[in-house]
Amino acid sequence: MPFRFSPGALQDLVLTPPEELTEPASRRFIRTDVAIAGSGPVACAYARIILDEHPTARVTLIEIGAQDGKILGGHHKNSVKYQKDIDAFVNVIKGALQPVSIPPEDSYLPTLGGDAWTTDKKLISYGRNPNQVPNKNLKGFGITRTVGGMATHWTSTPHEEEIIRNPINKQDRETLGKEADKLLGVNPNEYDVSIRHKLVRETLKDKLEPSSRKDSVVNMPLAVKRRTDNPDYVTWSGADTILGDLTKYGKRFQILTETRVTSLERPRINGPGGPGTGPGTGPDIHGILARDLHNNSDIYIKAKAFVVACGPIGTPQILFNSGIRPHALGRYLCEHSLAFCQIVLKRGLIDSLPKPPDPEKNPLPIPYNDPEPQVQISYSPEFPWHCQVHRDAFSYGDVGPRVDPRLVVDLRFFGKQESNVDNRVKFGPDNPEKLGDWKAGVTDIYGLPQPTFEVTRSVKDQQNDHRMMDDMCKVANLLGAYLPGSYPQFMEPGLAVHITGTTRIGKPEHKAESVADSESRVWDFNNLWVGGNGCIPDSIACNPTKTSVIIAIKGARALIAHLKEIPAHH
Ligand SMILES: Cc1cc2nc3c(=O)[nH]c(=O)nc-3n(C[C@H](O)[C@H](O)[C@H](O)COP(=O)(O)OP(=O)(O)OC[C@H]3O[C@@H](n4cnc5c(N)ncnc54)[C@H](O)[C@@H]3O)c2cc1C
Repeated sequence: MPFRFSPGALQDLVLTPPEELTEPASRRFIRTDVAIAGSGPVACAYARIILDEHPTARVTLIEIGAQDGKILGGHHKNSVKYQKDIDAFVNVIKGALQPVSIPPEDSYLPTLGGDAWTTDKKLISYGRNPNQVPNKNLKGFGITRTVGGMATHWTSTPHEEEIIRNPINKQDRETLGKEADKLLGVNPNEYDVSIRHKLVRETLKDKLEPSSRKDSVVNMPLAVKRRTDNPDYVTWSGADTILGDLTKYGKRFQILTETRVTSLERPRINGPGGPGTGPGTGPDIHGILARDLHNNSDIYIKAKAFVVACGPIGTPQILFNSGIRPHALGRYLCEHSLAFCQIVLKRGLIDSLPKPPDPEKNPLPIPYNDPEPQVQISYSPEFPWHCQVHRDAFSYGDVGPRVDPRLVVDLRFFGKQESNVDNRVKFGPDNPEKLGDWKAGVTDIYGLPQPTFEVTRSVKDQQNDHRMMDDMCKVANLLGAYLPGSYPQFMEPGLAVHITGTTRIGKPEHKAESVADSESRVWDFNNLWVGGNGCIPDSIACNPTKTSVIIAIKGARALIAHLKEIPAHH
């Protein structure tokens, strides 16, 4: 069945009865025990826990992206090339972030002469979204479609922070937090060998005001390991770190790459219209309908349990396309505001270091191979933002040949956003019954329902952002002078790529406004789990991945318990 998205087609697509799902020659049929959509760190945390803690379960990952390096899900920054030239990695990140929602542009080209075809209408080419209101967009957000997800390029700073509406109790979070650190390979002290790191950390501890903030200046916890064969380089954790040694599991693990998860299929029950009609309902997912993007053929993957961990946009997108859309799907979206600048370290600070051994060759008292600073000023209720004082590549902020890169320090301050039901990503039209609306059928470039952002910052958010910017400038002034071109600025909304809330977990009393329970099992389903930053139920300031891995470990154990309850012949 060719995939078309329109509200009409949606019905056909989602509700194919299982007895029809076995054959058509064009469709491959795969049987597994656990089918996991996605292959980012959260999908891999599910896979690892299930493979380790269930004696026999087979796990199949289904990933829309390709395997882009020689190590399955490895961090791309582990190449010597990028460790020698961090600016080059900026382009890798730029290429990795595929925009989600772009309003159509003016198609009028004033310099287009001659006999070229042109129109005075706005063209809706692939990837353009006529429903996107520009000032409600998160234009900077991007999806990374590759084996390993965003962890192929992330900065590797995992955190956990107190979340008000967290259905997982504190004691569990602490135990699971330690497990998450182990899975992610967190080592907080790998930069203590760096002169610059210590200089920045001690300066802030000494000078930051009020002095009560002193203890909030710490080594940034990093999922990284310094290499023993060559301590100039490090190994950044990626999805491969989480998966561990896959050879242990033999044929129990498999991954389908460049394969789009289209929808989750439920058996059709005999509704009032008789067998074969009526919506697919019931508490059990029967299989995943997927599309092999190499040859555009469908694959049907039958399993006993299902996890959708396709990021904060991809996960609700698949649920939407499967007709699973509790009220909260895509809602309560939070994203960080991001204030950024770069400074060149002060002369006084550099002069305070021991003199360089050979000033002719190297006038700076910092060796060429000195690792970069990796310092954090932690979130606190009085200063409700998370501050990274470090040097790393993002999709912006390359230093270039303007100044000695050893003198440059990046400041990235992440601000909270109040959790609000109206901040959301929505898919398709508000009212799918309105079939006459031509915009309803707009798809993204992969043929799934087009996401549209409706996100604004509240007055309180804006006031907090203002205070955060002020704080960043104060911190910057303690350390140095602004690098020309990298003056204090707010970055494009969404560029923090930390969207949360779109598939929230919640307590039973919050069922109406959450998508899944505290074990990430989708409400009213027996065998469907969701994973990823979308599960984080409330606003946070810190980086989200560790919190999502904590939630995933708990979910994976609930899934294992479910598998154990199923009779063997099932
Ligand atoms: C520049 C940058 C810096 C970052 N720094 C940090 C940091 O310091 N700390 C931190 O905590 N976080 C950071 N992050 C974010 C972090 O990488 C994510 O939080 C994390 O990767 C989320 O894991 P995930 O598995 O939920 O989702 P993802 O890593 O996004 O993986 C989702 C996967 O699902 C796949 N997918 C999507 N749709 C489909 C579909 N229909 N079918 C099949 N597969 C699909 C995607 O291709 C992708 O591989 C950073 C990200 C970037 C890009």
